[in-house]
Amino acid sequence: MSKSGSLHLSPSEYHRHQLQSLQPSLAFDGNDVTAWQSRLRRKLRVLIGDWPRERVPLRPRTLWRRDHALGTIEKIVFTSEPYADVPAYLCLPHNVKAPYPVMICLQGHSTGMHNSIGVSYDDETQPAAVKGDRDFAIGCMRHGVAALCIEQRSFGYRKELKQEKRGSHGCHDATMHALMLGKTLIGERVYDVDRGLDYLAGRKDVDMRRVGVMGNSGGGTISVFAAALLPRLRFAMPSCYFCTFKDSIMSIYHCADNYIPGLAKVAEMSDVMGLFAPRPVVIVAGHDDPIFPIRATRKAFRDLKGIYRAANAADRCHLVVGPEGHRFYADQAWPVMLKEIRKS
Ligand SMILES: [Zn+2]
Repeated sequence: MSKSGSLHLSPSEYHRHQLQSLQPSLAFDGNDVTAWQSRLRRKLRVLIGDWPRERVPLRPRTLWRRDHALGTIEKIVFTSEPYADVPAYLCLPHNVKAPYPVMICLQGHSTGMHNSIGVSYDDETQPAAVKGDRDFAIGCMRHGVAALCIEQRSFGYRKELKQEKRGSHGCHDATMHALMLGKTLIGERVYDVDRGLDYLAGRKDVDMRRVGVMGNSGGGTISVFAAALLPRLRFAMPSCYFCTFKDSIMSIYHCADNYIPGLAKVAEMSDVMGLFAPRPVVIVAGHDDPIFPIRATRKAFRDLKGIYRAANAADRCHLVVGPEGHRFYADQAWPVMLKEIRKS
């Protein structure tokens, strides 16, 4: 009888072996950037799953509006698609005049978008301390930037209540059901960002030539994919997600909502982010982030920089590394982003 030590019994070991020998078929090849982008973007659009054929009216409704020391905050809800309503906060800063630059702000696995404006989940009139600079909209308003904070599917006020939930991640059912329907949760979340852009485009007080997306962790994920797929986005600031698929998503335990069928066969994460070139990107990372290892993030950034260099935009591709773990680093990231916004 052979000893089990000589046998390969781990399915993950098998997949890692597959990955080692894999050469992504649409990785950047060093040739014409625009032609490569259009090939990979077309493929990615298919892999993230079906989108609705028609855009339904957004029907934005105001739930409340109030003054804040830095601006005004309005809570709205808009209809992304039938049976998918999106709560959001629109935050307009006091210290600059319209039309405002604007960032779409996305929280990750947490109690949701209330963190973006630093209030309690249960009572939005009550201020609440937010760790790791995740009060994104407060950071935006402080710097004269408007914010649209979107509640992502399966998080916060959109967490799953209709299905029994097991395990620590509330996205499991939604992710799996999306896959059975030929969709992905990433695709559905990106679609909500696109509908958020529709909402902003319908306003007179935001500057659609200066619209960006930012978020941490699961918000960083959607910042990357939204940047790759949505041409109206002009800036991107994904935090604590950008890395290599190989060293993070395919090596370390992550929620099922991170996966797109077949993506590793065609591209690495630097290629996906490279679809945003030459538009300005500020990648934010934590030196000690245990789930997006910094060594691999730096490697992926070198590859991304290569794509930006080929697009004659190396100076618009930035990496900011904070000294701690899995969080946003406002003091380091914002000065870099603001310089890009002012240049535009
Ligand atoms: Zn999740």
